[in-house]
Amino acid sequence: MTLMTSKQYEDSLRKMNFKVYLQGELVTNTVDHPIIRPSLNSVMATYDLAQDPRYEDLMTATSHLTGRKVNRFCHLHRSTEDLVKKVKMQRLLGQTTASCFQRCVGMDAMNAQDSTTFEIDKALGTEYHKRFETFLRAVQDNDWVVDGAMTDVKGDRGLPPSKQSDPDMYLHIVERRADGIVVKGAKAHQTGCINSHWIIVMPTISMGPDDAEYAVSFAVPADAEGIFYVYGRQSCDTRKLEGGEIDVGNKKFGGHEALMVFENVFVPWDKVFMCGEYEFSGMLVERFAGYHRQSYGGCKVGVGDVLIGAAALAADYNGAARASHVKDKLIEMAHLNETLYACGISCSCEGSRTASGTYIIDLLLANVCKQNVTRFPYEIARLAEDIAGGLMVTLPSEKDLLNPATAEVIKKYLKGVDAVPVESRMRVLRLIENLTLGTAAVGYRTESMHGAGSPQAQRIMISRQSNLGKKKELAKAIAGIPSEPKVTEKKKELVDAK
Ligand code: SF4
Ligand code: FE
Repeated sequence: MTLMTSKQYEDSLRKMNFKVYLQGELVTNTVDHPIIRPSLNSVMATYDLAQDPRYEDLMTATSHLTGRKVNRFCHLHRSTEDLVKKVKMQRLLGQTTASCFQRCVGMDAMNAQDSTTFEIDKALGTEYHKRFETFLRAVQDNDWVVDGAMTDVKGDRGLPPSKQSDPDMYLHIVERRADGIVVKGAKAHQTGCINSHWIIVMPTISMGPDDAEYAVSFAVPADAEGIFYVYGRQSCDTRKLEGGEIDVGNKKFGGHEALMVFENVFVPWDKVFMCGEYEFSGMLVERFAGYHRQSYGGCKVGVGDVLIGAAALAADYNGAARASHVKDKLIEMAHLNETLYACGISCSCEGSRTASGTYIIDLLLANVCKQNVTRFPYEIARLAEDIAGGLMVTLPSEKDLLNPATAEVIKKYLKGVDAVPVESRMRVLRLIENLTLGTAAVGYRTESMHGAGSPQAQRIMISRQSNLGKKKELAKAIAGIPSEPKVTEKKKELVDAK
């Protein structure tokens, strides 16, 4: 069974034993909880679209391990064409769900893990890559959802892991046993963890010798003994408990994040992919982050498509669609959105083969992509709010539309153009509210800022990758400035003179 249906996926989650605290209570049934369910629906879309013949080329791929058809979320990129298809798949799913569909984190973790374990083994003679491939084969055969857990809680940001007053601020090894390791710590902002079968845990920063016990990576069932979750609140999340459809804005889909706590969790050796090789933690972090920064050039663009469409509809319903400034704002929104897409596609086309055979994106362009994502969705959201008008945040509730005492007043006074019922106008304004201020704003706005690393993390990578030295040489050549001898040559001259 390399391709599950969404129903089979849902049933498989029902058999899991998650321990989730949500708004002060322990949730026993995560699948049907009204606050969690929309996020599950988004992951289900990754299964539904893979069954749809129209999207077979984007949503599925051929496993390089078994030759069988697998969901692209379980696939390792074997070419730049695969990298491009990944971005196109993410745009399609963003358009379909207008939410975070969560499954990319594991795909990005597995692709980073593949090349990194290969390179650790080559340098140190370990057997991490073989273990990882065995795990990957099972992921592909079972069509599992895998989450990637990178972000440690970090405590004092000015101190490395080993210097924190509380040793658990970064997830670490507390015991090495004959049969495996025991780990402790917590991972923050874990997208989709409660909809996942497995979690791949990775270190969050480059590390030195003192931090070796923190340089650990492994796969663990999402409901393993010792793991529990504290669910993250989202703006307007309790609207999902009201039972209506209009006020939630997005009637079916959503995303989720949670704090994931590891209380002395045992991991058998066959699922351990890094254990103390601190010199490779930076490589794993950089590659995972690079893949996820590419991802945003697809998923956020798809959600942006929905927001642009909603703003255009709001303009139609207000009778403002012919105003030249409205047309121009919609053009600007499309321009910004397609610029993000161009970045996602370009870092894919410029990708290259790593030693393991898995393809990696161009890291400079992927970081430029994500840097733009920290800005453009904010401007797109601003323009959508501008076009929508103030009614987006002063609109009465769905219940007032249903109450006979207020229904007629709402239908009379909140009407726009004659041809459009008030309910449609309310629905589109609530959708814009959802995407810019409500539950989906987590995925479209704040996650655009901080997801896959905050803006400064990309600027560090851009500075490392942009080769300023070469640019200076170009300028000198054009301006006719002679190249200075290298410092080492200068030193040699001084020594020779003596
Ligand atoms: Fe995928 Fe985007 Fe969600 Fe990350 S934020 S998991 S790339 S949909
Ligand atoms: Fe994300």
